[in-house]
Amino acid sequence: MSKNYDYCSICGDYGKLSHDHIPPQSCGNNQDVYFYSFQQFVSDPKLQFKKTHSQNGVKNKNICGKCNNVLGSKYDVELAKLRNIAISSIDGDTSLDKTIDTKKIVKAIFGHFLSATPYYQKSVFDNEMTNYYLDKKNSILKNYSLFMFLYPHKDTIFVFKNYSVGQIFQNAVSLPVGMLSSLYFYPFAFIFMKKQKFDRGIDLLEFIRSNNKLFEIKNSDWIFNNKLLSPIWPCNPEDDGTGSAFVMYNENLAKNSILKH
Ligand SMILES: [Zn+2]
Repeated sequence: MSKNYDYCSICGDYGKLSHDHIPPQSCGNNQDVYFYSFQQFVSDPKLQFKKTHSQNGVKNKNICGKCNNVLGSKYDVELAKLRNIAISSIDGDTSLDKTIDTKKIVKAIFGHFLSATPYYQKSVFDNEMTNYYLDKKNSILKNYSLFMFLYPHKDTIFVFKNYSVGQIFQNAVSLPVGMLSSLYFYPFAFIFMKKQKFDRGIDLLEFIRSNNKLFEIKNSDWIFNNKLLSPIWPCNPEDDGTGSAFVMYNENLAKNSILKH
């Protein structure tokens, strides 16, 4: 059951908690939906049981009202702006101009990752995100990656924290390594991980570090061997090389949901 009072997962202060939409309502998360846990999705792919219904999107009650306001008014607006630009030019590969503040995009995603926990907790990853979010330290830019991909699935929101995947097939899609956290909503997928190079998407933290002004996102981001990747890639078990051979996660740490309109 969700608690009304607890420590805020962003600022750490004890107080009244408020509902945070993950992703924000302005990014399409405002509809009448059914959602599922990852465990349910894997055990029952047709999603015939145990649906959770929400009249206005996927949300979690884990941050205070003050943090919720700042996240919404300072950072989510920038994310929604980026989303609108991307959607309006989705037919071609898109260059996004410098009116977008990438630091605000990163803070929006970090804010919602921090908010997406089953209860108050601060993992090493969470602490790194908090320090960047609250302008205390920016070592995260050097030590971690936040990859952004163009994501084609319109009817799915995917939130999954602190999992890892492995691959055993040859000629298979390359997978990010180590502990991962995912937040997907049309038309973006974000995956947080330890610093690494990856053959698709763009590492927004590296982008900020290099002081670039222009980044590109590509329609080919979510395609492998001419096949569209799963809405929950890389957590989809597939034997055709487009998914992972196994997914590991700790139920106590993972906050996960899959939403279908
Ligand atoms: Zn707070």
